[in-house]
Amino acid sequence: MTVSQYPELCLFVGGARIGTRARQTISVIDPATGAETARLPMATSEDVGAAVDAAAAAFSGWAETAPIERAGMLDTVADGLRTDSERFARLIADDLGKPLPEARTEVETAAGIWQWNAEEARRLYGRLIPGRSPGINQQVRQEPVGPVFAVSPWNAPLITPSRKISGALAAGCTVVAKSAEETPAASVALLALLEEVGVPAGAVNLLFGDPVLISAQVLDDPRIRALTFTGSTRVGKILSAHAMKTLKKVTMELGGHAPVLVFADADIEAVAGMAVKAKFRNAGQICTSPTRFLVEEAGFDRFTEAFTAGMAALKVGDSRAAEVSMGPLASAVRVTALSGLVEDARSRRLRVACGDAGPGGSGFYHAPTAVIGATPEARGMNEEPFGPLALLARFGTEEEAMAEANRLPVGLAAYAFTENARRAARVASGMRAGNVIINHFQASLPETPFGGLGDSGFGSEGGVEGLQAFTTVKYVSQV
Ligand code: NAD
Repeated sequence: MTVSQYPELCLFVGGARIGTRARQTISVIDPATGAETARLPMATSEDVGAAVDAAAAAFSGWAETAPIERAGMLDTVADGLRTDSERFARLIADDLGKPLPEARTEVETAAGIWQWNAEEARRLYGRLIPGRSPGINQQVRQEPVGPVFAVSPWNAPLITPSRKISGALAAGCTVVAKSAEETPAASVALLALLEEVGVPAGAVNLLFGDPVLISAQVLDDPRIRALTFTGSTRVGKILSAHAMKTLKKVTMELGGHAPVLVFADADIEAVAGMAVKAKFRNAGQICTSPTRFLVEEAGFDRFTEAFTAGMAALKVGDSRAAEVSMGPLASAVRVTALSGLVEDARSRRLRVACGDAGPGGSGFYHAPTAVIGATPEARGMNEEPFGPLALLARFGTEEEAMAEANRLPVGLAAYAFTENARRAARVASGMRAGNVIINHFQASLPETPFGGLGDSGFGSEGGVEGLQAFTTVKYVSQV
């Protein structure tokens, strides 16, 4: 495959590709230019029904396929992603506007996830429980839960569908996937790769279209036994409630609003440098993106100076161009949402610092921005910006900092920087988040569990915990 190949967009239903010819279509927009890249077919109700039929029909065959054989296919997918890394990276950059070096990292992470789940497929161990009388054999088995509905957002177009599809396949489940309409190319290319490596027809189906109609129809179907959703808290609550009508197993990976505690004993300039990289990666469109920077009074001015200087050095532009450190936002809607949060800060007379505004034109650009001396009432301190906005606030005592860190109902990622080991231990225990990261910004890896608390959802992806979303426990007792 050549680097410039954008796939012909299609749905995958029961091994068949459904293109744009006989379907209504949606426009896929290049966020760097605002121009149309391609048209995406929208699933009809018949397509949705056929996808569920196919996943249900393929289930018993795939569940009975030996784990070592399933693992072999998943490993081959990992190899395929690595071999074709440049092409996948380019598709991510084209659809999402993620700078190419970051897109290459996304492909490598996705490959690592396929590899990890291939390995986990072979380790779905059960247990023997000693009996109360001789001759009794009591087993605990982990069995595949059934066909899974996997819904992904646009901000990591290869990683998120990969986590869900590879986990489900590893556990012996089949899948109806709905990826984001804004960024379809990586999912389409991934499904083509699954076909190539021999994943049976119907084991993984891919839909795009009207998210409300597709979700309602798939979730109504009792043959679908699990829902794994990544996206906003608002939609997550709607889909969880719907899934409960047929008592599906549910995993919710939802929004966050990560606090970062910076104590004055930390290396303030070094932390600020790391913070700029972490904050503006993927233009801040990451659920674990550090957002509320709570800095101890004594270090606040130095932190602000170093942070704004680092931010000013970022070059914003078309993600495919060399030396661009931040691309456009994913859509015009995101630019409006960010501008609203910045306007709110200005209306409260808070100081606002902005970096490079980008090339302008019809692309969806927004300058990296910091609100300095942010107060808890500012909208940005309460609503997830999901974009290139940092809020810098002062704190006096550790107790105050912890209270602010834990103030919101979400709890996905939380970070802290301190050289004091006792304080680090206190903060790690006291922060109410699914992922607490001390003295660095790496919130997740294929081998570590990832998930949130409260309004950030429940259940884990990754780590040895990841496959539990796709299994059910069976107890067998035999005399
Ligand atoms: P979203 O909830 O709007 O969309 C997510 C998915 O749901 C998409 O596939 C979309 O088409 C579909 N969808 C949207 N509205 C729907 C509806 N009414 N019924 C059924 N399906 C619907 O989220 P988004 O804006 O695409 O993504 C951003 C959000 O995702 C942020 O809140 C971010 O923090 C969160 N996120 C969480 C994680 C995590 O692992 N916790 C990872 C990435 C993103």
